Amino acid sequence: MPTNFAKTKSLFNLPEQIIYLDGNSLGPLPKAASTYVKNMMEKKWGKLLISGWNKDGWMDQPKKVGNRIAKLVGAENDHIIVGDTLSIKIYQALDSALKLNKNKKIILTDSGNFPSDIYIADGLIKSLNLGHELRIVEPEQIADSLTDEIAVLLLTEVDYRTGRKHDMNTLTSRAHELGILTVWDLAHSAGAINVQLENCNVDFAAGCTYKYLNGGPGSPAFLYVSPRHINTIEPILKGWMGHASPFNFEEKFIAARGIDRMRIGTPPVIATVSLEAALDIFDKTNMPDIHQKSIELTEVFINEIEKKCPMLKLASPRDANLRGSHVSYHFENGYAVIQALIERGVIGDFRAPDIIRFGFTPLFIDKDDVLKAVKILDGIMKNSCWDKPEFKKKQFVT
Ligand SMILES: *Cc1c(COP(=O)(O)O)cnc(C)c1O
Repeated sequence: MPTNFAKTKSLFNLPEQIIYLDGNSLGPLPKAASTYVKNMMEKKWGKLLISGWNKDGWMDQPKKVGNRIAKLVGAENDHIIVGDTLSIKIYQALDSALKLNKNKKIILTDSGNFPSDIYIADGLIKSLNLGHELRIVEPEQIADSLTDEIAVLLLTEVDYRTGRKHDMNTLTSRAHELGILTVWDLAHSAGAINVQLENCNVDFAAGCTYKYLNGGPGSPAFLYVSPRHINTIEPILKGWMGHASPFNFEEKFIAARGIDRMRIGTPPVIATVSLEAALDIFDKTNMPDIHQKSIELTEVFINEIEKKCPMLKLASPRDANLRGSHVSYHFENGYAVIQALIERGVIGDFRAPDIIRFGFTPLFIDKDDVLKAVKILDGIMKNSCWDKPEFKKKQFVT
């Protein structure tokens, strides 16, 4: 059945008169989430107390929810675990990949990668102290920089600033030919574009659930490990929940079989319940439809801006096959433009130094929203409405 996007839109609590083009940064509230969380607190935690771990299956939640995410990113069943933050999941994945490729010392990434991924890689290298090197090249140079001296290719599929999308399939298969393992960050992919982890033979992948998956602020991350590797890797973060039998409280760490070994500590049960409400919305959709709608929305937006706002310089690829679900422009006073837009009910965001960014979540944004947003942006640009001191004062979160 084709996805009914009017229906999915109706399942979100979107403030009236607001066009929310920031679901790529923090997804909006699914209407059902409040009831789910209230129920969890009052009927489950409130009544079951500690027995909830067994009676309400809280301990199985990370894998159960992981399996729901697996369907959205083309992963095998029982190979995704939910928990912690994306930064931590990248740390675990990168360490595992390095250990599988012990004889080589170079991690390759690109300068468009998210700072946290780069900091995490740098921190891991320092704590391992085994002579690893982080090599950072321009995104366009990645394909040519793959050589057999590289241990791990660490990439974010969709660039958080420009929306440029790497070719996961081609790069992964080229990497494998050269004996390189891959770690893909799906922060700006999961829930928006049609990711195929199994078909692309990806080794490791991780993502967050508060962006296009709409799990709520700080909802837990997820980690994918290919069946090829999961039972051979030794987790760097050996928490009791990754133990084969956590409730034997043994002194010696014995890793659990399967993806459970990448668990660390007690799961964030309440935050994950909110995520479950968000995942319900995906149950009546399919990723090819969502990806197709993402392309339609970003195309309409770019076409309209080309016609109306030539002073905005497209920072995203013009070819829809080369981008994710957000579109960015360079503009020197971009921060002020975004503040003027927010004042008029269009929420986008700003990324230093000069990027204005608009996310198009197919589940709740439609063509009408896109046209209205362009009209408002056009008005701001034509009349320089952004040029006011109060729009230039930066807040901490941009
Ligand atoms: C949003 C984002 C993160 C965030 O990591 P957290 O640990 O969830 O804060 C990491 N990587 C990329 C590419 C992102 O876009």
